[in-house]
Amino acid sequence: MDLPEFACFSPFLPAEWGAAHGVRLRRLARLPATASRAAREGRCTYAANAVELARAFLAGGGAGAVFTTSCDQMRRSAELLAPAERVFLFNLPHTWETPLPHRLYRQELLRLSGFFCRAGGRAFSEEELVAAMRRFDEARRELLARQERLRAAAFARQLFAFHERADGSLPEAGLDEAGPARGPGIAVLGGPLLERDLWLFDLIEESGGRVLLNATDTGERTLPRCFDRGRLAADPLGELADAYFGHIPDVFRRPNSELFRYLRRELEARAVHGAVLVMPVWCDFWRAEAERLRAWLPCPLAAIDLADDANGRERARTRVQALLETIS
Ligand code: SF4
Repeated sequence: MDLPEFACFSPFLPAEWGAAHGVRLRRLARLPATASRAAREGRCTYAANAVELARAFLAGGGAGAVFTTSCDQMRRSAELLAPAERVFLFNLPHTWETPLPHRLYRQELLRLSGFFCRAGGRAFSEEELVAAMRRFDEARRELLARQERLRAAAFARQLFAFHERADGSLPEAGLDEAGPARGPGIAVLGGPLLERDLWLFDLIEESGGRVLLNATDTGERTLPRCFDRGRLAADPLGELADAYFGHIPDVFRRPNSELFRYLRRELEARAVHGAVLVMPVWCDFWRAEAERLRAWLPCPLAAIDLADDANGRERARTRVQALLETIS
């Protein structure tokens, strides 16, 4: 029998949690052909596209859609969908420095558990949760090991496919015969991407750079940390909550110092010579950080608006080429 499926758009929603309830919590990244491509005034392009994706998913028989309160735009996206009983809004705390937000996150996971059960899932058992966590953890390790052998867009596609499968299985290795690109190392930072945005990675590599770090909201930065085997056995739900909420650095968090700490660590570890900041149109969070990042990063930064039209691509090409000229 097919498992009930739920759509989601946040890296803070563990697919393992769905698997432990006998459902698939799929993070979607491929827009349906019918989706509108027009930019909407005042609307973050990613949040607006999430509505399109969720609407098509629910119309196609999906059991539900799960949104988070990571920003007002995503909260608003949940309100735009109907029927309301098939939409779950996960209250994602922005603060993290005291025990309270960690407890709230865990309580929200339990509230989500009730939503799964009402929509065709089953009550979770610790044994199933542990088995799911082990399976996903191993898959993520193998996925990361593939990165070395892939072009940036190919690796990003593998990540999308893994999140969309949401059952702990890996997509075909599909190793890119061209192998990794050569050239000065570039880090790509910023907001979430959809599959159709991957032209950006190709653009960087065609312009002579090599993407060494995908630190966008849909890249490796937002993978949970590896699970601790001892804590996994003793308190699987606590370990799940800590690996996601306790460790994923993101721009909306208050303070968002962990995002900067993560970037410093990863940039030092990988000979990065320049950075590209992706700002989805109408995203206040990333826009607010652009100047701070420019001043703080140890390498030159090109900030680009991720607009999906010919003009937007041309502007991105000019900025990426200018960045690579500066570096070389
Ligand atoms: S890109 Fe910015 S506005 Fe859009 S969903 Fe993410 S945080 Fe919200």
